[in-house]
Amino acid sequence: MGKPTNFRYNTGVAKVPWAAVGENYNVNDLMEIIKFLMQGEGKEYDDAIAAVRAQIEKLDELSTPPGKLSLDKNVEEAEEACNKFLGSDSSTFVANATAGFEIAYKYANLKPGDEVIVPAITFVATMAYPLAVGAKLVFADVDPKTINMDPADVARKITPKTKMIVPVHIGGYPVDMESIMELARKHDIIVLEDAAHAFGAMYKGKMIGTIGDFGGYSFHEVKNITSLGEGGILTTSIPGFGPELKRARFLGLDFTCPIKDWLYNITPIQGKYEPFVAGNSSTTELQAIGLKLQLERIDKIIAERAAAAKYLTERFAENDAIIPQDLGNDDIKPTFHLYLLQIDPAKAGGDIQTLKRKLAERSVTQIAHFGPLYRFKIVQDMGYDSDEIAKTCPNCEEVFYKRFTHLPLYGLTDEQLKYMADSVLEAVAEMQAGK
Ligand SMILES: *Cc1c(COP(=O)(O)O)cnc(C)c1O
Repeated sequence: MGKPTNFRYNTGVAKVPWAAVGENYNVNDLMEIIKFLMQGEGKEYDDAIAAVRAQIEKLDELSTPPGKLSLDKNVEEAEEACNKFLGSDSSTFVANATAGFEIAYKYANLKPGDEVIVPAITFVATMAYPLAVGAKLVFADVDPKTINMDPADVARKITPKTKMIVPVHIGGYPVDMESIMELARKHDIIVLEDAAHAFGAMYKGKMIGTIGDFGGYSFHEVKNITSLGEGGILTTSIPGFGPELKRARFLGLDFTCPIKDWLYNITPIQGKYEPFVAGNSSTTELQAIGLKLQLERIDKIIAERAAAAKYLTERFAENDAIIPQDLGNDDIKPTFHLYLLQIDPAKAGGDIQTLKRKLAERSVTQIAHFGPLYRFKIVQDMGYDSDEIAKTCPNCEEVFYKRFTHLPLYGLTDEQLKYMADSVLEAVAEMQAGK
């Protein structure tokens, strides 16, 4: 007699069981995972590893492997924890934010000819699905203060074909969601919040990502917290659609039904206008454990980032050519994923390209991901005219080429933070002195 398996073919204690996990991890495998997560070299390290190995071998004799590695209790618990943190009831743990966005885009039944308004400045992930299905991307100009989507330009670019608006909270600084939602409601447009940088940000008392129809968060390794390198949460505020996110994550299967039903009675998922077929963006139990653990320290992480941002902003007050990152207020609470550093080129005696060069010369790393989407080669190759679009995004052109760069905020020692502030101040002073 075996142990009861907890896979979905659960038949109690089966004489001939079928295990969910085809091949378990052994001591060797575990040691490789530990050595990957805790890297080192030298004799002392090797000795410590040998000691751990001895203990793991012992543990191996005393333990049994997990009965499931994918979509089980830990995934549910991670989702529960996210619900609690976000004040949501639909958190669904997906492979990554991009996969979550795809579910939202499919809900909107996005097709060729439909228009999607995205900010002129973001990461390619925001627009990947619309581009893939041949929907038309419409680039909203940015608010020069935040480099987020400017609602006034969104309003100008809405047409009867606009199906979605995708605000991106760049660097974790909240978009003016009130204005975006007002426009969306008026024109019956679905809003997908790209909250990849903004897990934990707040806007007027609400968590960012829970204000639009959908919110997608990322736990990719570079974000404020991670679920072992990849992962994301998708939430929805569409009444009744929350439970459907779970089906949308895994091929339309409904595990709340008896097995004979979930296996064969798979139905398409009802989108806004018509049904759609779900893909698979399932997550593992290990990713979920990784997420739960980091989630416990998210408030501390954001507080540390906020303190670093406050330090930089205070230091930069010394020179009025520098426009420091806005630190927020009671209504706006950023996550400080990145530090938005801007300069006034007239006062600085040069533009951001000069400052970027001077910072690079001082070995200050800048995060140069976020540029005009309409200049990306993939967009040009899909038939968009970059120069024509640029004319409709003057703020984007100005801030990207002349005014902003992003600085890192986390994982820095006090000394590194001070060196970064000193470097910016020195470099701008040099520019002002005509050097
Ligand atoms: C990281 C990122 C994404 C994608 O997140 P993944 O989880 O890697 O898919 C989307 N949008 C922005 C703005 C990002 O920086």
